[in-house]
Amino acid sequence: MSFVSSGVAPATLIPGTVDISVFPRTTSIINTTSGQIIQWVYISFQLDRLSSKGQLRHAGAFGWVARLRLALFVRGVRDVTNVYHIVQFQSGDAYAFFHGCHWKCSYCVRTLGLWDLGLPEDVRNELDKLWLQGRVKFLSIEEVVAILKESGVRLAFFGGGEPTIDRELKPLIKRLKEEGIDVWLITNGELLDEELVGMVRGITFSIKALDDGLHRRITGRSNRTVLENFKRFVGSGKVVAETVYVKGLVECDEVLRIARFIASLNPETTFRIDPLVQNPPYEEVDSCIKEVMKILPRTYRIMATKGEPPNLLYPRIG
Ligand code: SF4
Repeated sequence: MSFVSSGVAPATLIPGTVDISVFPRTTSIINTTSGQIIQWVYISFQLDRLSSKGQLRHAGAFGWVARLRLALFVRGVRDVTNVYHIVQFQSGDAYAFFHGCHWKCSYCVRTLGLWDLGLPEDVRNELDKLWLQGRVKFLSIEEVVAILKESGVRLAFFGGGEPTIDRELKPLIKRLKEEGIDVWLITNGELLDEELVGMVRGITFSIKALDDGLHRRITGRSNRTVLENFKRFVGSGKVVAETVYVKGLVECDEVLRIARFIASLNPETTFRIDPLVQNPPYEEVDSCIKEVMKILPRTYRIMATKGEPPNLLYPRIG
């Protein structure tokens, strides 16, 4: 099956646009002049399979353009957020998913799909269909507020994707605060500023690697600004540090380097080590945590439990 396109990247098809997404099935393009966002859907599944068989291995930097793209719609961004999916946990807290990221981490959880992985597979499949039919929209600020209010949410986690690339993030947090709803930000930390830190209840601040070369390999970007921002904001009392333990990439020696960096700033910082979702090396992570705790006593990992799935608040099925 051949989906080979003209070989021209979207950013050059549309003058004045920047490709900002890493997701395999979708990408957003911002027109830097008008502020419009153009939503594209990739029909990429077959190509991903081809790629995994090595047939596209030599496509190099242009391999990704060999995907059939369908323009879905164009939207202005005035009060439309990047939020496309919201779930509510049994605790009553919610998680809002922001679309897109300016990084391209090799192990990004969104490469596994757009939806909360705690949802049953058949539900995620239904949501995939809605997405491909163009029946999932980006919510306005007032729509997000209404959905969370209706469900009695008091704390909303903002993740994704990367929430800080959304220009409506601060107005959204402000409106939610007016309604008594707090926000906890999950971020790569690169675009944080004082105002944003001041607005949220807490921040899960991800440090992918301390070694800059390794960081570039994982994310495609330097960690210089990330580490500067971590130094700036770790004293706010709101920051939980996080990293992802990836076998063969970010193992205990690198995690210990990150831990020493954090401890040099504040040894009381909470540090979360996430085993890679795709293939969690739990035993290695647990033995690593024992070592890390000698440096940062407040180190832990999330426990994978097979509890009740979250409630789907948006998009609705049926
Ligand atoms: S920073 Fe987070 S959302 Fe962005 S590509 Fe990396 S893992 Fe994915």
